[in-house]
Amino acid sequence: MHQFIAGQRRPPASGDDGSERFDVVDPATGQTVETVSLAGPADVAAAVAAARHAFPEWSRAAPVERAAVLTRLAALLEERADDIACVESRQTGKPIRLSTGFDVPGTIDNVAFFAGAARNLDGKAAGEYSGDHTSLIRREAIGVVGSVAPWNYPLQMAAWKVLPAIAAGNTIVLKPAELTPLTALLFAEAAAEAGLPAGVFNVITGNGPVAGEALVSHPDVDMVSFTGSSAVGRRVMALAAATAKRVHLELGGKAPFVVFDDADLEAAVHGAVAASLINTGQDCTAATRAYVQRPLYDAFVAGVADLMGTVRLGDPFDVRTDQGPLISRQQQQRVAGFVERARDAGAKVVRGGAVPDGELSRGAYYEPTLVIDAHQRSEIVQDEVFGPVLAVLPFDSDDQGIELANDSPYGLAASAWTRDVFRSLRATREISAGCVWVNDHIPIISEMPHGGYKSSGFGKDMSAYSFEEYTNVKHVMYDATAVARKTWHRTIFHDGPDLSEPRDREPSPSNATAPGDTGR
Ligand code: NAD
Repeated sequence: MHQFIAGQRRPPASGDDGSERFDVVDPATGQTVETVSLAGPADVAAAVAAARHAFPEWSRAAPVERAAVLTRLAALLEERADDIACVESRQTGKPIRLSTGFDVPGTIDNVAFFAGAARNLDGKAAGEYSGDHTSLIRREAIGVVGSVAPWNYPLQMAAWKVLPAIAAGNTIVLKPAELTPLTALLFAEAAAEAGLPAGVFNVITGNGPVAGEALVSHPDVDMVSFTGSSAVGRRVMALAAATAKRVHLELGGKAPFVVFDDADLEAAVHGAVAASLINTGQDCTAATRAYVQRPLYDAFVAGVADLMGTVRLGDPFDVRTDQGPLISRQQQQRVAGFVERARDAGAKVVRGGAVPDGELSRGAYYEPTLVIDAHQRSEIVQDEVFGPVLAVLPFDSDDQGIELANDSPYGLAASAWTRDVFRSLRATREISAGCVWVNDHIPIISEMPHGGYKSSGFGKDMSAYSFEEYTNVKHVMYDATAVARKTWHRTIFHDGPDLSEPRDREPSPSNATAPGDTGR
């Protein structure tokens, strides 16, 4: 399978001799799903050239035309929803219930949202802010966007990058993660069928160090939008700095889950298990460190351990499966390594903490895992594990709970669990994160922004706020006096009005003509 450039599938520029290919593997079975050609710098250059070529016409298309394409795209995706969900589950191993209930419908809703939002770009009202001029705002497309996406929600991450960009009139070259390029290709093909002009949305299938770096450093790319780990995000930012590109970064997370002693325990326990295990914990906003106020601590740990024990691991295509495999063997080893080191450092694994055997040993599975007695400064509490692992720590005062929640380099998401309105207000105000849920953890909606604080990056995905990322705001200022010599010229010309004159003797906007002005 090949990349998608200028409206069609294209073999790599280097020739398809098989040497530059990558196997997309089903992590539940280890079997190859598809073999994909790997893009090199020449392919990146071709995709960027296609996007550059398409930009003038697409950026000048009326918003209603862009909206019409996106509306048709939403309908096409709806027709193909089941097929796309199958491909998504096959390449990621995520349970089919998640693909059909979250990834695909969430993406379709995003498309529908941006179809409407394309016609609603906003700015300050035009007006005479200086008195002597009429000012107005133009919100303009930036140009060619180079976008790099991760493997955990391949379709949704592609949509979050592509939709605001093209709705605002930009063109884009997307590099999905090499492990999971298939649904991004289906998305681009559906967009072309929906009437998106060739070159507006291109997909290159390649790895990070080659295709990713070529894309983010390409001199004809005007903006880079990246979703992935904080370490690669910093590298992307450094590469983009060489040509002073605009950068949008959605990076890692280590979301705290703060349970105050008046919380609904059952809700908190269910919330913690669901939010730590969703997508096998490979979710940037997953609950990863629960802080529980001392009176509820023991009951919370016991409740989470019991509930985790009911989670069914299995074939992602069996509708009874709750948790699928991790994305790869490499990720499985990474997660196992974190848990082993936590054990060695004195933490206690109350549930899970192992690679399952039997049937499941064919895939990259890892048991739902609950860790207690880890130190706040230990790596399992501080670093992103990106697996089905929840660490639980106790706290005493409200101050301490909030302090621990903020004791992290990350700031993507957090939740507070309490029935007290003042506690919840305080938590939402004082926790440094781009999203703070109260009495829930995970839900997202197209109308509201998603984005991080601190090492979790900057910029917003989804919602009208994402247009801030993908547009330039231009101030246009018209002289409204029709006089040749403006009052402000007195700062330059010595024969202008006396600057020492008191302000109340300044000419009003209606007679703003300096002595000697002729008007027109
Ligand atoms: P990653 O950083 O390893 O890779 C992300 C993408 O970057 C991939 O497409 C990869 O090929 C590419 N890449 C790798 N090296 C590159 C380089 N030198 N130059 C350019 N591109 C390069 O991340 P991942 O393992 O694919 O995804 C997991 C990470 O993504 C986690 O840290 C997770 O928190 C984060 N994530 C964040 C959000 C968010 O919205 N903040 C959403 C999803 C995932």
